[in-house]
Parts: sequence; structure tokens; C-alpha cells
Amino acid sequence: MIDQSPTLLAFLKELQRVPYLASKNLYVVAQYFLDLDEPSTQKFVSVLQELKKRIDKCSNCWTWKEKDKACPFCSSAKRDAQMICVVENWRDLIALEKTGGYFGMYHVLGGALCPLDGIGPDDLTIKQLVVRVATGCKELIFAFNQTPEGEATASYISSKLKGKDIKITCLARGLPVGSSLEAMDRLTVYKALSERRPF
Ligand SMILES: [Zn+2]
Repeated sequence: MIDQSPTLLAFLKELQRVPYLASKNLYVVAQYFLDLDEPSTQKFVSVLQELKKRIDKCSNCWTWKEKDKACPFCSSAKRDAQMICVVENWRDLIALEKTGGYFGMYHVLGGALCPLDGIGPDDLTIKQLVVRVATGCKELIFAFNQTPEGEATASYISSKLKGKDIKITCLARGLPVGSSLEAMDRLTVYKALSERRPF
């Protein structure tokens, strides 16, 4: 049986590591790749290699950017450098950008605190954020997901900034509990941001 082929099983095992795909029918994905002709296969491999070669994280805001180009956020003169919106991941940043209503800077933490999964402060870019805030920031906006992990992360960061002359705000109430920014519609995210409240 072909589904016992070690080559196919090894491929399925790799697919299983991919978030989102792991919850799908992996045979459908495998079928797509098995059916690809040689030029399309080469193209897929080459764009993946280019992605890994040419994209890295900005060492200031920690979002993804082209390696040989300046960060589009940090280098923009049109954005307010005194305002930093802190997000768990890059996908949340995309959700906020899609609202078209935010013109400050970002800071991508790389996740949220989650002791059960072994994610502590040193696994996130919290230290870098504290240093960044010290070099000049008037408002810090917590745009975390409405989860216990998001709340714990917000509390931890604010404790690290205690006594500092900085305004800390967070998204408006009313967002569904357990929800992530990326899963919400543009208007809901925009409202949550524009009606933000003191943390
Ligand atoms: Zn940046």
C-alpha cells in the first residue's frame, strides 16, 4: 500500500508539524505535492529557500522584514515613534495594520507567557521592550489576545515598567474572551484600538 511508503510517511510527518495543516486532511496536501510537475516543484522549493534566506526579524520591533532592507515600521518617518503597540505575534500586527487606523510603532513579543508550555519571560522579547521604552516612549498599547496568557503577559510587562513615566493602555473591553486579534474582523479590531482604555 502506498500509504505505508516510508517516503510518503516521512513527508506526512513533516506536514504534521505545520500549524493549521496539522488539523487538516494531510492526504489532500500530500496529493497536491505528488501531482506537482517538476518545474512547479522546483519553484515551490526555491521560494521556500528564498523565504528562509531573505527574511529575518527587525532587531528593534521584532517583526519579519526583508534582510537587506530597513524595517518598514521602524524606519518610517510617518509613524509616531513615541507610541508602541505590543502584540503577541506578527499575525496580530497584520490584523492591526489592516484597520488602517494605527500610525505608531509595534513590538512583537513572539508569543505570550505560558508556564504550562514552558514559555517564560526570557522566551519573549520583553527585556528588549523594557530597554526600548527607556529610550523614549509616551504610550504603550497592550494589544494582546483575550486569553489568560495575554492577561498574564500584560501584567508581567506592566510590573517591569512600574514607576516609569509612561502611559499604558489596552484594547477596549467587549472583545470575545479567548479570541485572537487575527480572527476578528477589521472593524472590531479598529474599535478595540480606538476606544482603548488605561491598563
Ligand atoms: Zn522594526
